[in-house]
Amino acid sequence: MQTILFHSTIFGPIHSRRLGVSLGVNLMPADGKICSFDCLYCEAGFNAQGAGKKGLPGRSETAAQLEAKLADMKSKGETLDVITFSGNGEPTLHPDFEGVVDDTIRLRDKYFPDAKISVLTNSTRIGDESVVRALRRVDNNILKLDSAIEETMKIIDRPNDPGFTAAGVIQQLKKFEGTGIIQTMFLRGTHDGVNIDNTTDAEVEALIEAYKEIKPKEVMIYSLDRPTPERNLRKVEREELERIATRIREAGIEVQPF
Ligand code: SF4
Repeated sequence: MQTILFHSTIFGPIHSRRLGVSLGVNLMPADGKICSFDCLYCEAGFNAQGAGKKGLPGRSETAAQLEAKLADMKSKGETLDVITFSGNGEPTLHPDFEGVVDDTIRLRDKYFPDAKISVLTNSTRIGDESVVRALRRVDNNILKLDSAIEETMKIIDRPNDPGFTAAGVIQQLKKFEGTGIIQTMFLRGTHDGVNIDNTTDAEVEALIEAYKEIKPKEVMIYSLDRPTPERNLRKVEREELERIATRIREAGIEVQPF
């Protein structure tokens, strides 16, 4: 079974297709996964693998590890484009998320003032004002919206909360007022005998209407790049992503395919 990818709180730097040279911050356990979604394509595996035994890293421990790594990279003359919150689950579930973001901004300013700070989030916690304040402070708040059609979103993302809806999150995403980046994963396949395809005309049209409402700074669209826990998923090739991007662009929305 596909399982967690990251075995520490600070990981990398790695080269990210979307973000460049990226130092990762994993605020979820180093030996398990915790997420408010359970996406069929999650690179960290299904939630069923469990949360592990180590628990969440504390705020001061995270800051100390990040500072040690940034100081080491600086002393070696390495470059850094971005510090990215991602990892074994949803970073905004960390109870000190806002404080950790403040520490990260302070350390970025001290060691690599030109680097950006990005948060990859599934948008489930943007009803929490502390999370919204933190996301507003970072350079790139990258918010997931994989489908604007309820049934498809529920099949692909599998939210833990049965009350979580695409319509509800689209309303909440408007609060970033042009500062948020929306990320959409395009894929096809099957799960438990159910067909999945969020590239159909109806799906793309519904997403375009949602993007128009949200008015993001930019939309990032991408497809599978690593093994997925549901094996019956297929990548959407670059040419097709380009065609979808053209439709989104024609609707007046800034979009980048990756
Ligand atoms: S939201 Fe991210 S971490 Fe959570 S299950 Fe989906 S891909 Fe994995």
